[in-house]
Amino acid sequence: MRTEFTWVGGRSSVDFTATLGKREQTPFERIPETDDLARWFEESGLTKEAPAVTPAVRGTAIELREALYRLFTGTAVTADVGVVNRWSSRRLPGPRLTPELGLEPAPLDATDLLSTLARDAIELLTGPYADRIRACASDDCSLLFVDTSRPGRRRWCSMNTCGARAKMSTYRAVD
Ligand SMILES: [Zn+2]
Repeated sequence: MRTEFTWVGGRSSVDFTATLGKREQTPFERIPETDDLARWFEESGLTKEAPAVTPAVRGTAIELREALYRLFTGTAVTADVGVVNRWSSRRLPGPRLTPELGLEPAPLDATDLLSTLARDAIELLTGPYADRIRACASDDCSLLFVDTSRPGRRRWCSMNTCGARAKMSTYRAVD
């Protein structure tokens, strides 16, 4: 079955943690097969073409994903830092210049893409929004997002889904 991915995190590394859905409720795997991970990479916009993904790469991707989730939610274990650093310290192909002097992203394979995610996470965890990584306030949702709003009081992963539902139930409570 083809699952839909969610893109509410505001950062690719945060969106990657959402490939395990309903973590706090009834977890379901959005990348059960290697093809699903390939499709996630493509839909993420980190690469133009879906990369080849082996079962071994999928396995390490899930290990990285869970380490990222714990780091983002303040529940990291010592090994998680090592997992992220192992990926981030790999060499990555640099960006390219087109003949028209445009910017062309380097072609990245699946392991390069995992390194990219690890680097994104480090930038986030050590940057100005490190304390703005939040989980959606809905009881029925466990999506993480980076609250980049000026007041920093964003509660919902999305105003179209959880935010709208919360508004509805407030109206109902008033009735
Ligand atoms: Zn939500």
